[in-house]
Amino acid sequence: MRGIVLPGNQKAHVRDWELEPDLGPNDVQIDIEAAALCRSDMSLYDGDPLVGSGEDEQYIPGHEPAGTITETGSNVDWLELDDRVAVNCFIGCEHCEHCLRGDPMLCPDVEILGFDRHGGDAEQLVTPAVTCHLMPDEMSMATGAVSTDALGNLFSTMRDANVDATDTVGIVGLGPMGLSGVLNADAFGATVLAFELVDERREKGLELGADFGIDPVETDPEAEVDAITDGDGLDTVVECSGSPAGIQMSLDLVRKHGTVVQIGEVHGTDVSIRPSEQLIRKKATYLGSWYFTRDEWPAIASFIVDDIGNDRAEQILSHRYPLEDAAVQEAFRRFDNHETQKVLFTP
Ligand SMILES: [Zn+2]
Ligand SMILES: [Zn+2]
Repeated sequence: MRGIVLPGNQKAHVRDWELEPDLGPNDVQIDIEAAALCRSDMSLYDGDPLVGSGEDEQYIPGHEPAGTITETGSNVDWLELDDRVAVNCFIGCEHCEHCLRGDPMLCPDVEILGFDRHGGDAEQLVTPAVTCHLMPDEMSMATGAVSTDALGNLFSTMRDANVDATDTVGIVGLGPMGLSGVLNADAFGATVLAFELVDERREKGLELGADFGIDPVETDPEAEVDAITDGDGLDTVVECSGSPAGIQMSLDLVRKHGTVVQIGEVHGTDVSIRPSEQLIRKKATYLGSWYFTRDEWPAIASFIVDDIGNDRAEQILSHRYPLEDAAVQEAFRRFDNHETQKVLFTP
């Protein structure tokens, strides 16, 4: 079968791979129909993996796939051929406290699709059945691919921060995660302020439901927020830029008793904050969010279909590419250069 290979030198190719591992009793085999590109894939593209075991073995990348079941292991009686599934990228031990809670990403023995074993940027995938989330009929394969890492993660974030329709929510940085935040916060009924330097990205945020688009360099974001909130500040700020300036701004803009959620990855860089002014004197909360807990899937799936809407959800995707050498190279290059929003492969 065909699948992507990333040698780690900022090149991307398609080649033939063996379909591995062999289908075990608890596994399923999936025909991949959509697989989304993620910023964390760029760490493989650059040869400096953000997560994973760091072993030298080469794996097919891709941790945001969706597709159709073509084979089930002998123990799998709850999934059937032709079931449409989005795949959770975390494979845990299934018996530690974190796995039992539905948070396999916190398992000490976690494996991540596309980092520690073959991922979904390929024609087929063999994965434990427990990683499969059944998709409602109204959810397209494209939306399925962005329903986990992007939309599902940000849904979970809104819940963690207790966002509701009375809240004013800031989203800092409008890449795919930020746009997922805009879609979710808007569908939770919140007033949404989108902070982004790049004009086109700010426009996209407004299109997808942000009530205000604010350029944090050309304007004074604190003055803008004061004007909109009568000087209170933001109930929740979701930091999706991962930049030290974005983090500082998020902590400055949150109101007393408010919450800042960190989504943007800051890998290998120390960021200084001012805890007294930014947290203690505001009794504010600063928390990290990584993916969603498995039991949230039914709520995520129905929220995407009923509240965000499948067509709107698909709009965080700006480019689609077939699984062909030249197309894949272009996809990675343009995504790396921040010329795209979410990118989808359609094997
Ligand atoms: Zn990802
Ligand atoms: Zn575990």
